[in-house]
Amino acid sequence: MEKSEFKKCLQIIDKIEAWNLTKDTFFDTFFHQAEAESFLLDQDMFSEMIHHLIESNNFIQFDNTFDLSEPLYIFSRTQHHSKLEALSIFEAMIQHPDYYSYCNNHLSGEIDLSSFGYFKNILVSTNLFTNQNDRMFFNPDYLDDLTWILKDKKEGYNCSYALKTYYTHQLYHKLSLEFRNEEKEMISFPNKEKMLTVFPKIGIPVDRDCSKELQNFFKDTLLNEFKHQCCICHINIVQLLIASHIKPFRDCSYLIEAMDNNNGLLLCRNHDYLFDQGYISFDADGQIIISKEIANNLDIYQLHQNFKLPSCVMTPTRKEFLSYHRKNLLKQ
Ligand SMILES: [Zn+2]
Repeated sequence: MEKSEFKKCLQIIDKIEAWNLTKDTFFDTFFHQAEAESFLLDQDMFSEMIHHLIESNNFIQFDNTFDLSEPLYIFSRTQHHSKLEALSIFEAMIQHPDYYSYCNNHLSGEIDLSSFGYFKNILVSTNLFTNQNDRMFFNPDYLDDLTWILKDKKEGYNCSYALKTYYTHQLYHKLSLEFRNEEKEMISFPNKEKMLTVFPKIGIPVDRDCSKELQNFFKDTLLNEFKHQCCICHINIVQLLIASHIKPFRDCSYLIEAMDNNNGLLLCRNHDYLFDQGYISFDADGQIIISKEIANNLDIYQLHQNFKLPSCVMTPTRKEFLSYHRKNLLKQ
């Protein structure tokens, strides 16, 4: 499949993602939408693509919906031959543990393209590699960022800060918007200095609508990370779910704080309100903390004293944001 066709498929998948589709209705709906957009594609070719996306952990199926991985979400929005295009397809490919270890071991050496299986054709039509005397290497200009991506992946982040920063840069570097909160302190991101080199603008836009694309990304990432359910009560009706900021949007001092899933929890409307108003919070181990004001009514609020967030979501950055929440929002 050509890169442009691959991207177009991703864009259509992203569009139909919110339509509550099952495994049975997914293919028909996809081709119906493709036809409506005058995009013709061979069915076997599409089935093969989905097979490889599932195998590489880039397409995840849930009971009543499915999700693309964040790197592919970003890749589908990149410009031809841009740095972000190369970095995002690289990160999508290394969602597969075999490709991760191959890249980790061959970052500065010669590359055997046949090692990348299905992804080979897409990868070679980006700027990810250079050809030196018929030998292939990763593009030396990208090595720093590829290392950054591999490191974040190892830390357990489902989307690296490298991609988030370059994506933010793509969306905002040319816009002259009025910003606020420049004086507020940013949490200590890993590689904070590198982030500021790529996207130096501090603060968030005064007009919240200007960050709509990043807020969509924020919600999409949280839906994926929390498997489309409230992390406390497991309600899974999308319309009842809120992508809840841990450090509130109004307090964010950098666009990446506002769009980073590590600054969020997926909660139902009830639990979002209790969290937002500081009636509940979480300690550094993810153990729930319940304010005295509601401590006598736990059943009504569907809360349990021994509830704990799953350890896989307790990334170092989410711990930082939760620390902010305890200090600034939690009612005693
Ligand atoms: Zn809930």
